[in-house]
Amino acid sequence: MTESGEVVGEVIGEVDASSVDSEVVDVIVVGGGPIGLAAAINARMHGLTTLVIEPRGGTIDKACGEGVMPGAVEELAALGVHPSGRMIAGISYQNGKRTAEHRFSGNAALGVRRTELHRALAERAAELGVRFEHGKVDAIEQQGGAVSAQLVDGRTFEARWMLGCDGLLSAVRELVGLATRPRRVRHNDSRRFGIRQHFEVAPWTDLVEVHWAPNAEVYITPVGDNEVGVAVLGRRGFSFEEALASVPALAERLRGAEPASSARGAGPLLQNTRGQRAGRVLLVGDAAGYVDAITGEGIRLGLAEARAVIECIVADEPERYEREWRRITRDFRMLTTGLVAAANSPLRSAIVPLAARLPHLFGRIVESLAR
Ligand SMILES: Cc1cc2nc3c(=O)[nH]c(=O)nc-3n(C[C@H](O)[C@H](O)[C@H](O)COP(=O)(O)OP(=O)(O)OC[C@H]3O[C@@H](n4cnc5c(N)ncnc54)[C@H](O)[C@@H]3O)c2cc1C
Repeated sequence: MTESGEVVGEVIGEVDASSVDSEVVDVIVVGGGPIGLAAAINARMHGLTTLVIEPRGGTIDKACGEGVMPGAVEELAALGVHPSGRMIAGISYQNGKRTAEHRFSGNAALGVRRTELHRALAERAAELGVRFEHGKVDAIEQQGGAVSAQLVDGRTFEARWMLGCDGLLSAVRELVGLATRPRRVRHNDSRRFGIRQHFEVAPWTDLVEVHWAPNAEVYITPVGDNEVGVAVLGRRGFSFEEALASVPALAERLRGAEPASSARGAGPLLQNTRGQRAGRVLLVGDAAGYVDAITGEGIRLGLAEARAVIECIVADEPERYEREWRRITRDFRMLTTGLVAAANSPLRSAIVPLAARLPHLFGRIVESLAR
């Protein structure tokens, strides 16, 4: 079910000199997802020469709820990136009997197809002179003031800095020793995964709806005039169809709607790390560590990290980045860890009633996601 980045490869010593790209760039970005592209745009805006290495060609799609929070919309605008999307006014929690909803007090969020987000970021990166190479990094070497990436096809590229933006199952994290040992999977496997699919139907709401089904959370994000994204989060092995069927009101809305994309999955969502920096290699976005998609903040946090990491490099203070990362992700790590624990506990059925009974608290939480 997972979609990217098998954890393979080793740090290598010697390479064939004829396969080494002679130009040493300032920054190599490994992974051309949204956060890699945002980091590359930031780097170019500071005048750094930048190379993005990404194995997938064309416009990249990915399993995502596609809610781009207000803070992320602002970060994108500051980069000169303006994707088209559907205005999202807030968030609604529902469980069939109770509903809690909060509308953002400031700017709106956007429901944006990942393909559209990728198009907008890739166009801006190309406009600023970011260089692109197709390939998969599977070895990294650091020596003196430089770091080099070797691709599966044997080509090697060298830079002063490398950003690992290669997603949840980051190979860079593994190659530079920042991965933690995988947890032993117990009989009662609590690891969580996500699956998303789009349907041709006119949005019936201007909110992101989160339906708390008995065994999964079902997210509805309007992304177009006649398209909604459905993302389901749950424990390994859950069924997308069964999760939808367990929310009768939703099943009714989607009855007869044509799928507008095929189902895509990602996970396990929880990814711990030893840190975010090893010498001249820094981790950004999901590669830097992730808890869960339950609060829909990955893009907002990753964009803030992409800005911070380039500021640290430009100031020649790479050691400051890990502190910045902890600051940027602190609330996310606390809230998301707590919410996932509640979702996996007998408290699960009390989450929506509590949110409905405590609208100020629910509102404060939603506003914290919007920042
Ligand atoms: C089901 C689900 C729902 C979500 N909902 C939301 C939401 O509503 N809002 C939100 O903000 N966030 C959401 N997220 C989180 C969001 O999708 C991620 O935080 C975001 O995609 C992170 O971007 P990234 O660029 O770090 O990683 P990715 O988007 O995964 O990009 C990584 C890139 O690295 C490339 N790569 C991998 N390995 C290598 C290699 N060895 N060499 C070179 N390149 C490589 C991959 O091909 C890929 O293009 C959701 C996530 C899931 C799974």
